[in-house]
Amino acid sequence: MEKIMAVYDVDACYAERFADVVNQREKVPFTVVPFTSLEQLKEYAKGHQIEILLVSGGALPEQLKEINAQAVVTLAEGEIVSSTGSFPSVYKYQSTDSLIREVMAYYCEKPQPVLVAVGKRAKVIGIYSPIARCLKTSLALTMGQQLACKFPLPRPGKKKRVLVAGGGPAGMEAAITAAGRGHMVTLVEKAGRLGGNLHPAAAPFFKKDIEKLCHVLESRVKAAGVEVVLDTEVTADYIKVMAPDALFVAIGSNELKPPIKGMDGSNVIMAVEAELHPEKLGKKIAIMGGGLVGAEAAISFAHEGRQCSIIEMKQEVAPEVNSFYRGGLMPQVEKAADIYVNTKVKEIVPEGVVCETDGTVFTVEADSVVCALGFRAPYDKVDALCALVDEYYIVGDCSQVGMIYHAINQAYYAALRV
Ligand SMILES: Cc1cc2nc3c(=O)[nH]c(=O)nc-3n(C[C@H](O)[C@H](O)[C@H](O)COP(=O)(O)OP(=O)(O)OC[C@H]3O[C@@H](n4cnc5c(N)ncnc54)[C@H](O)[C@@H]3O)c2cc1C
Repeated sequence: MEKIMAVYDVDACYAERFADVVNQREKVPFTVVPFTSLEQLKEYAKGHQIEILLVSGGALPEQLKEINAQAVVTLAEGEIVSSTGSFPSVYKYQSTDSLIREVMAYYCEKPQPVLVAVGKRAKVIGIYSPIARCLKTSLALTMGQQLACKFPLPRPGKKKRVLVAGGGPAGMEAAITAAGRGHMVTLVEKAGRLGGNLHPAAAPFFKKDIEKLCHVLESRVKAAGVEVVLDTEVTADYIKVMAPDALFVAIGSNELKPPIKGMDGSNVIMAVEAELHPEKLGKKIAIMGGGLVGAEAAISFAHEGRQCSIIEMKQEVAPEVNSFYRGGLMPQVEKAADIYVNTKVKEIVPEGVVCETDGTVFTVEADSVVCALGFRAPYDKVDALCALVDEYYIVGDCSQVGMIYHAINQAYYAALRV
């Protein structure tokens, strides 16, 4: 049965709109019922158990106690000072998500059922919470993973010769975990250094933490006793000669380069190359593609004194980015670049990029054009390598283009199965 969250506010617009918005959110395990009259609320409370009562100023604590809600939170219009005695307050005019998160935090402070450990050896190592949006579940999962790390990695039935193709974060994590379990691991990287796309990802001045992550992974590879081979591409012949017992394919993704007229011009530079070698860029830059990579590139290049434009086909920049990060990102992107949304690239010319918006054709002038139109997993290459061995694991961006966390997480769990 859905739990009830009652909202009492004399402003009908606020109470009803709030209920509409929250009731559309699948992850909020409450049905919100709006009230603009205290009498109606009291009447409703006689026949329903109200779990949470959100209330604007004006109601007296004695009146609220009559309603017998499990938790009462007041909606403050200005400074957060509880207007209704001892009840906690949240700021009324913040985003619905933030408001719900704060309310849930108060709700979860209620005494919880006591967990009873049965027997001397029982240990509680995780918490399941039915309350969404207060991050308890994420905490429980992370805690579970962290605690599991305290125990030795499961030893394999047989010590195997493992070849890891690709030394990005996925390949490094697979190598570390497989070696930690006792396998003989060789990590082969095409480039002259480990790290893969961690290097372009760490290039912007505000993302130096990623560089630290790369150093940590590299030192863990060394400490795990992994044999590292650089400047070497894993090919079909390489696999045939080495004949490993198990193969990890962690070769990352390819940048998309659509067949746009002018794409092969000397003024075009791919996003990864642009991040690694900003010295190749002119003063005025047009970035094709307003995903996370294009958006962050604009901030970084503008910081270096360049004038940037972003050209994006969709109706907004960086729509794939989670709302928490996007809130901080977008004001910086807007400062850093002229943004053209709902705009299609028609052609790249020496003067810049010819674009079209709603049938109007215009040129975004630029000395350099950065292509940040996305990434694709090289499935053909991956399949060709996997076909040569009986036991293989495909991890990281070559399995599905994603983020660093996905690549490392997937590699770790795959390496536990060898
Ligand atoms: C500009 C940019 C910014 C990014 N920013 C972020 C961010 O802020 N946060 C985030 O979470 N993610 C970010 N990402 C994504 C993140 O970098 C990737 O998801 C992650 O690096 C994928 O790891 P991977 O090991 O699967 O692949 P990669 O990092 O691409 O590594 C693959 C490696 O395999 C090597 N290789 C390829 N073929 C072979 C072969 N045949 N033999 C041997 N070696 C081979 C390559 O040289 C490469 O070193 C960003 C990516 C880019 C390009």
